[in-house]
Amino acid sequence: MSTSQPTPVRGRFAPSPSGRMHLGNLCCALLAWLSVRSQNGEMLLRIEDLDPDRCTREKAELLMDDLTWLGLTWDEGPGHERTHAPYCQSARRELYESALSELRAKNDVYPCFCTRAELHAVSAPHAGDGTFRYPGLCRNLTPAEAEEKSRTRRPSLRFCAPDKSVTFEDLYCGPQNINVQSTFGDFIVRRSDGVHAYQLAVTVDDALMGVTEVVRGRDLLPSTGCQIQLFHALGHTPPHYGHIPLLVNRDGRRLSKRERDLDIGVLRTRFTPEQLLGRMANLLGFLDRPEKITLTELIPVYKAWYETADTPKFPKNCVVPDNFAIK
Ligand code: GLU
Repeated sequence: MSTSQPTPVRGRFAPSPSGRMHLGNLCCALLAWLSVRSQNGEMLLRIEDLDPDRCTREKAELLMDDLTWLGLTWDEGPGHERTHAPYCQSARRELYESALSELRAKNDVYPCFCTRAELHAVSAPHAGDGTFRYPGLCRNLTPAEAEEKSRTRRPSLRFCAPDKSVTFEDLYCGPQNINVQSTFGDFIVRRSDGVHAYQLAVTVDDALMGVTEVVRGRDLLPSTGCQIQLFHALGHTPPHYGHIPLLVNRDGRRLSKRERDLDIGVLRTRFTPEQLLGRMANLLGFLDRPEKITLTELIPVYKAWYETADTPKFPKNCVVPDNFAIK
């Protein structure tokens, strides 16, 4: 919520329709919405359905129905077509290809022929999260070598990540410093099966859709470094970012889809939208009690909290009590 932003603020919610939303997705959608509405901004909905194996049209429809049930409206997106249509990533592939052409022309991307098995053999996974830093094996292939390899294998495309820190001020977490090269290495922008990678698609879309503010889960904080580098490489100004806590259960484990009663399908059978909103706002720490409240009433409550809470405004993780879904 910086005062130096151009008006109006444009925020977005960008879910992947790979299953029914759970409490974590809902908290994210709620905060993105409240932040935008408390600044009289515009809200955009984008459906991130690039993974054809996991995302379906039906799941996207259900997701929009669930957001509508909760009252989390959008000004632009599916059903509210305006200048930045289409709003499903699966219909935006040409835009990602033209961004790749730009990057190719500047030698900012290169083909990579490494297999997963080869990478596992040479890299140690990052502590705990199973991700690997790409050690740059294909960065310096000669055109002749690349040509030779491409006879037997389709390459992925990687972005030459500059080896310098990306710094930014997170709306909720405060100052951040991420070194993309030492965290991820040169990251993938298009998979070997031709599917555009999340990092590329999200950057191109946020840039072309004029997004000025991104509110999303803390698991994406390191990725923000990749996206800011891509924004710069494509000649755009990155938005402001705000990362919200991950929801964990009492044992400190991240909530999983197995926690069935925190799925929106179940929550809808137990609560009214106002009851659920009150519980979520209380869980996130900006409403004193888990009492029912409307979205209109929540806007000034959120605003007052945002303006007065010290940074970092949230704890890293937010513990969901066992009885959250019990009336
Ligand atoms: N589509 C991503 C997800 O559902 C979120 C992307 C983002 O907000 O940048 O996890």
